[in-house]
Amino acid sequence: RTVYVNGAFLAEDDAKISVFDRGFLFADGVYEVTTVLKGKLVDFEPHMARLTRSLNALQMARPVGEAELRDIHEKLVALNELDEGIVYLQVTRGIADRDFAYPADAAPSLVMFTQARPVVDNPKVEKGIAVMTVPDIRWRRRDIKTVGLLPASMAKQAALEAGYGDAWFVEDGLITEGSSNNAFIVNADGAVITRQLTSDILHGITRDAILRLAREDNITIIERPFTPGEAENAKEAFITSASTFLMPVVAINHSTIGDGKPGPISRKLRQHYVDAAFASIGE
Ligand code: PMP
Repeated sequence: RTVYVNGAFLAEDDAKISVFDRGFLFADGVYEVTTVLKGKLVDFEPHMARLTRSLNALQMARPVGEAELRDIHEKLVALNELDEGIVYLQVTRGIADRDFAYPADAAPSLVMFTQARPVVDNPKVEKGIAVMTVPDIRWRRRDIKTVGLLPASMAKQAALEAGYGDAWFVEDGLITEGSSNNAFIVNADGAVITRQLTSDILHGITRDAILRLAREDNITIIERPFTPGEAENAKEAFITSASTFLMPVVAINHSTIGDGKPGPISRKLRQHYVDAAFASIGE
């Protein structure tokens, strides 16, 4: 694979980052994941807008402008002949002698790489996944997309070890979101319920897109937190993220959701999102 590090496109084995990089020492960095379909970027602008918000929240400098970021994305996709998958982008505050305070003069580091993976024909979509609830032990600024992902990693690992496909975080008796995705349920009236945007959750780009498509379909949207009990008794449930689009959730803990199969609203919204993604890249 060819990766990008601070201005250079290199073979992955030749790419190097300093041990004094603050991303490595303090998880002092932010990231974005943009989906690639047919070699084209999906929802690129909103991902870059969120990157800007993350950088601003941490008073971190922008390594390069947005037009150049797009060029680097496109060049990396071309160099790796990536048809379908993701581009990962990470900005860290840069290299400085270890000190908790922000360095005055560090230059931010920019690292990018690609991963090939099936997004549209993801084999898990047909059956959906089961989720396990875990306490949300993350920090209070989940709206900043930082690389400090250990609580999410622990949650995912615990879920996989217990035989589930993913974890849903619970705080004060309410679902916040998934380990790396936003969480939704569909109630008996066919309304889609998902937590409102606060600093309690990441403001998912796919969440936004799905809600927009649901509105176009005249589906009622209720933005409020819901409990694990409500999810157990929901008609349908699903998660959204750039790398999975929309994935049906068919069980939570020991309870089957609906009839245990991906529901009609989940399937319809997924199909709309796939269609909209292809339309956005001119396919
Ligand atoms: N919540 C969390 C905690 C995430 O890590 C992610 C994806 N990185 C999402 C939600 C989904 O965001 P998006 O739709 O922008 O990928």
